[in-house]
Amino acid sequence: MSIPFNRPYLVGRELHNIAQAHANGHLSGDGMFTRSCHAWLEQHVGARKALLTHSCTAALEMAAILLDLQPGDEVIMPSFTFVSTANAFVLRGAVPVFVDIRPDTLNIDEALIEPAITARTRVICVVHYAGVACEMDTIMDIATRHGLKVVEDAAQAIFSSYKGRALGSIGDLAALSFHETKNVIAGEGGALLVNDPTLVERAEMIREKGTNRSKYFRGQVDKYTWVDIGSSYLPSELVAAFLAAQLEQGESITARRLAIWWRYHAWAEPLEARGMLRRPTIPAGCTHNAHMYYILLDGLAQRSAFIERMKAAGISTVFHYVPLHSSPAGLRCARTYGPMPHTDHISDCLVRMPLWIGLEAHQDQVMQAAEKILSTRGVFGAHGWGGCFSTAGKTRNPRNAQLSNAG
Ligand SMILES: *Cc1c(COP(=O)(O)O)cnc(C)c1O
Repeated sequence: MSIPFNRPYLVGRELHNIAQAHANGHLSGDGMFTRSCHAWLEQHVGARKALLTHSCTAALEMAAILLDLQPGDEVIMPSFTFVSTANAFVLRGAVPVFVDIRPDTLNIDEALIEPAITARTRVICVVHYAGVACEMDTIMDIATRHGLKVVEDAAQAIFSSYKGRALGSIGDLAALSFHETKNVIAGEGGALLVNDPTLVERAEMIREKGTNRSKYFRGQVDKYTWVDIGSSYLPSELVAAFLAAQLEQGESITARRLAIWWRYHAWAEPLEARGMLRRPTIPAGCTHNAHMYYILLDGLAQRSAFIERMKAAGISTVFHYVPLHSSPAGLRCARTYGPMPHTDHISDCLVRMPLWIGLEAHQDQVMQAAEKILSTRGVFGAHGWGGCFSTAGKTRNPRNAQLSNAG
């Protein structure tokens, strides 16, 4: 049997909820299931206001509109991220300014943020990679001192925390994803979390085509009209009904993923001790949600050989990201601050292992196959191990310049 990289997990009540939405006769957005998802997110993430969107990409676009980004304004962010982090701001004419990542968490290196600030900097957009928190105390302090807003791209980070605070509740705004490759899913879906109370009312209007429709439904105005720029960012009740079932089971989904994550982590420990790979780092004070298990190999040749041989063994593993600063649109629409050795090197070394609920029955097979491949002399041994510990950027291979299918 072949083992996929991802398999969407269904909790069981999704279709029941969808049937109920159907029976209720309210199929467009903002019905009872949407309201219950909002309440759930506000309660469990601790956000001031949660608003479902049709994707995390949409939530990031809303954030860029809400923060009034103007052409030429700058947004400091990592290059080691999904395209939407940058695209949302580029659509407003703003310029992403990429800084390098830390080699341990693969998150934005907070020490590089302050030197990258210019007179045009307006926003710091952080990405909690693999559901592991960025150094939020330092980042919020920099933002406060320079009058900048902070957006958390928390697409991967539902149920993760930093010093006891849920990710998504710390920045002025945050975006979650419920894409089927994430932990809690709705097919396509997302949410904007608004923590700055002064942004709540406008966020509702931007989401409702620039109208004050939400105020109208609360009886605060007696007719609704066009008041601002906006678009249609809300999902259908059918999507919210599906999501409501998933959110209810969010804690058990996280627990089951964590069990798989920790089995990989224990398996990889002696391999790391023998210099065959590097494991993820979880800083003290951070809890994570087991969004992904990755290993870092010695370089591009080893990584490509590993993925190929795993595939031959019927197991799908994937890499990401092609750094945005070296992508065609990144070269046109953004700039870098300083060299990017860790971003370049990590994107050559990283492999994501299969992680989905149900993998438990096949995980031994995955680990045995991986260990056998990693122990093959000649492919891996000849190049020596430990390259991923070095911080020097290596020459990139154009073969890597294809998009990962991992979402
Ligand atoms: C998945 C992901 C997104 C995009 O999420 P969608 O819901 O598919 O729009 C954005 N940023 C990061 C870091 C992601 O992992």
